[in-house]
Amino acid sequence: MDPIEQVKAIQEKALSEVAGASSSEELTRVRNTYLAKKSELTSLMGLMKQIPAEEKAAFGKVLNDARDAIQAAYDAKSQGLESAALSAKLASEAIDLTLPGRTLCQGRVNPYWIIVDEMSEIFASMGFEIVEGRDVETDHFNFEMLNVPKDHPARDMQDTFYITDTLLLRTQTSAAQAHTMLAKAGKEPIRMICPGKCYRRDDDDMTHSHEFGQIEGLVIDKGISLADLKGTLELFVRKMFGEKREIRLHSSYFPFTEPSVEVDVSCAACGGKGCPMCKGTGWIEILGAGEVHPHVLEMGGYDPKVYSGFAFGVGVERVAMLRYGVDDIRRFYQNDVRFLKDFSEK
Ligand SMILES: [Zn+2]
Repeated sequence: MDPIEQVKAIQEKALSEVAGASSSEELTRVRNTYLAKKSELTSLMGLMKQIPAEEKAAFGKVLNDARDAIQAAYDAKSQGLESAALSAKLASEAIDLTLPGRTLCQGRVNPYWIIVDEMSEIFASMGFEIVEGRDVETDHFNFEMLNVPKDHPARDMQDTFYITDTLLLRTQTSAAQAHTMLAKAGKEPIRMICPGKCYRRDDDDMTHSHEFGQIEGLVIDKGISLADLKGTLELFVRKMFGEKREIRLHSSYFPFTEPSVEVDVSCAACGGKGCPMCKGTGWIEILGAGEVHPHVLEMGGYDPKVYSGFAFGVGVERVAMLRYGVDDIRRFYQNDVRFLKDFSEK
């Protein structure tokens, strides 16, 4: 075959293989076959010496043109394959911006803790120390140090869960009182609150729970009177429920205080006129308090002739129920997210 025809035949074959290559690997193989140093096309250079001198230039040109044509076809195809690969990659990794996002469930603070934090802040601002009590207490600290000996009828109202005959789940945060008094050795004045959980063997209903929160407060110093108690609680109630709230004290009985009082707050819903919320009285019972019983002072190491004090106990859920209009104490413990999502920190 005429050498020029041979070159053209190879060129044609190469161009058709370049065009038919469907991957970069295949294309590389075609390039190696036709453009590498030991390729068919290069071997045709060997024919040069058989070609008459006057035709050498023409043959050389045909050869070069063939190589240039194959190279150009290769370059174009290579670019085409690369951009096709890129497009395929982009298509496979495409993000659908119209898809709705995934909702992250954000936790909320249980209203119980919102109230504990708020009350702690209010009392801390009045100089009260915040004491952490113990959930598991001894009979001695939970009852006896609070003037409730073993045969005392008040124990009937505070039946609890016993771990042993002398270890129990505390029925009141007041147990922290005695620990604090003993720690201060009867010498230093005390201003403390103890927020925490209490336990009683109660049948759960809308207003009773076998587990509930209480904040116990205790002030001991020289010359503390019922007027200090009233002033402190009035300030607390106004910070907690609003500036216009009033309180009233009426007598009650607790074994560890003398005199003992129940404290009512004027109803926020009706402003004291009377409504279903306050059962028509204009007042809502909020906490129990009193002057520390001299015997309790004595047991705690304080001389009742020198020192006096007051104590109070507030139900955390009671405050939360009044504040948020919650009708059932069990809601604080059921962990129902539909209930909890209604609350957020102020
Ligand atoms: Zn009312």
